[in-house]
Amino acid sequence: MKVDSEKCIGCETCLPYCNVGAISMQDDVAVVDEKICVECWVCYRNRVCPQDCFEPTPLITPGDVFKHVLSDPTVTSEGTGVPGRGTEEAKTNDVTGRFTPDTYGICIDMGRPGVGTYMRDVEKVAMAVAGAGVRFASPKETPLSGLMTDIRTGKIRDEYLPVHVLSVIIEGTCKRGQLGPVLEALLKVEKEIDTVFSLGIVSMAVGDGDEPLFQTLRQHGLERPKRGKVNVGLGRPLRS
Ligand code: SF4
Ligand code: SF4
Repeated sequence: MKVDSEKCIGCETCLPYCNVGAISMQDDVAVVDEKICVECWVCYRNRVCPQDCFEPTPLITPGDVFKHVLSDPTVTSEGTGVPGRGTEEAKTNDVTGRFTPDTYGICIDMGRPGVGTYMRDVEKVAMAVAGAGVRFASPKETPLSGLMTDIRTGKIRDEYLPVHVLSVIIEGTCKRGQLGPVLEALLKVEKEIDTVFSLGIVSMAVGDGDEPLFQTLRQHGLERPKRGKVNVGLGRPLRS
């Protein structure tokens, strides 16, 4: 994104609209720091500027395209055909059947509006959980896997590591017995990154329900989640 400096009148109206603080004033003219800008196009799409100063810069590199797809919720990912951040919602599992009774679904939501995340931090978290037993979804299911050199390790191609995005989902599954090591890996790697993440765990209610899950969380000093979504199982599975 860039600002037409000839038209800018320095009113500063645009500043609070940027999700990641990429716009600043220099000599009474707004400028966009392209290294920080996540190409969400909020400033442009919402016509926040009274002078119509915002102009999208061409998305030339694959990294430019990736950050736009991940940061602008109106864009649909070509790889997965899913709008938003390109990953099907976990709560549609009744239909998609991505998570099975012997696994937990792991959805790590990295970055947030106001914070964002660099892909180098995404790689650190992905590699940590891969080493602890998480198997990532395929590139057809989630755009992040398409950037990995090997989805077994979580290593992301070097050219994407400096890319800044608003938010990205690391999605996969782990065997139920591996949840403890996955939590340990997350508790360790959270100290090594410069952003925030939230962890979603998808659990099919089988046998003794969710009690083993809550027990594993407690063993790792994590509270029982205060927010959850329940899918009652009325969807028709696409796979048996
Ligand atoms: S809103 Fe437009 S005119 Fe005002 S500072 Fe921002 S770019 Fe310049
Ligand atoms: S495109 Fe998004 S990140 Fe970039 S300057 Fe505009 S609001 Fe900020």
